Amino acid sequence: MSNKYGRFYNFSAGPAVLPVEVLEQARDEMLNYKNSGMSVMEMSHRSKTYDNIIKTAEADLRELMNIPDNYKVLFLQGGDHLQFSMVPINLMKNGVADYIVTGQWAKKAYDEAKKYGKANKIASSEDKTFSYIPDCSNLNISEDADYVYICENNTIYGTKFHTLPNTKGKDLVADMSSCFLSEPVDVNKYALIHAGVQKNVGPAGVQIVIIREDLIREDLPEWCPTMLKYKTHSDKESLYNTPPAYGIYICGLVFKWLQKLGGLSAMKEMNEKKAKILYDFLDNSKLFRGTVEKNSRSLMNVPFVTDSEELNAKFIEEAKNEGLLQLKGHRSVGGMRASIYNAMPIDGVLSLVSFMEKFEKQNS
Ligand SMILES: *Cc1c(COP(=O)(O)O)cnc(C)c1O
Repeated sequence: MSNKYGRFYNFSAGPAVLPVEVLEQARDEMLNYKNSGMSVMEMSHRSKTYDNIIKTAEADLRELMNIPDNYKVLFLQGGDHLQFSMVPINLMKNGVADYIVTGQWAKKAYDEAKKYGKANKIASSEDKTFSYIPDCSNLNISEDADYVYICENNTIYGTKFHTLPNTKGKDLVADMSSCFLSEPVDVNKYALIHAGVQKNVGPAGVQIVIIREDLIREDLPEWCPTMLKYKTHSDKESLYNTPPAYGIYICGLVFKWLQKLGGLSAMKEMNEKKAKILYDFLDNSKLFRGTVEKNSRSLMNVPFVTDSEELNAKFIEEAKNEGLLQLKGHRSVGGMRASIYNAMPIDGVLSLVSFMEKFEKQNS
């Protein structure tokens, strides 16, 4: 069972599925981008043509997310992991930050922050293997905290903050890698949003940072590398050094694709529809079950299991033969995980569920 071009349904958590229309356009523009006589890969990042690509990408992202004028958009490198360091280095003015640890990524960010100041773990869901989002309506926020940090959608465990924590007036910083552009967000509620694009937006190698202007500081410690200052990149509009130029171009195509679909509200509606098909099946199945508390479920990453390791392995293997790829859960959780990002067509989810029905009949 394969689609156009022999492509299969790809449920990878990241790098992940991209819209076929975007890949087709990239293909068509690969050798000669808009009569420039060269590929975007071969083009100077100082050229007028490229300047137009990056400026249009930023403008389209601003339009999609309704980003206020007092926020900067940065296209950076270093993986989302580098943001675990850049956030505390740049934002810890008092040297204190509060972390809500709801999974492996938040934990890594918390551990990294400890190197630069006092990081407090103010809530966690580790007691139940990160299968829920803790109540964050009245946490013990540190008086001198520079920010409160969350990972908004937990890619590995399949949980999502459906209500933002009450930060009691402190700045909120969010890692949005695996839910970026999956639904509308009110950017005003955040001081900084960071996202690796390889989950929902583009090829690995680009990090998008949306940062409120007043947080872009000059007075950083002497030792701070130039490349790790937001100010360096902000002053030069993400062109301080060679940016991940081709990746940004693909992100730009994805932004156009989202605009054509009707923007983030339309995208959210489609994502809810897809997720509901899968969750409804899981809730009614006698063989499979979801691993996350219902009110914490992610629209993007759906982990599930059977009660037998053997059946899990068999399912993953047989699904592969049906053209349903990369359904193995993260090594720290086991079982299965279906990542159903923006670019996963509804037919992909329907095919998965119909295979699960068949598998259940054959194995119970
Ligand atoms: C994938 C992921 C990361 C890690 O991203 P890298 O680009 O590999 O550093 C961090 N946070 C979240 C939420 C992720 O999904």
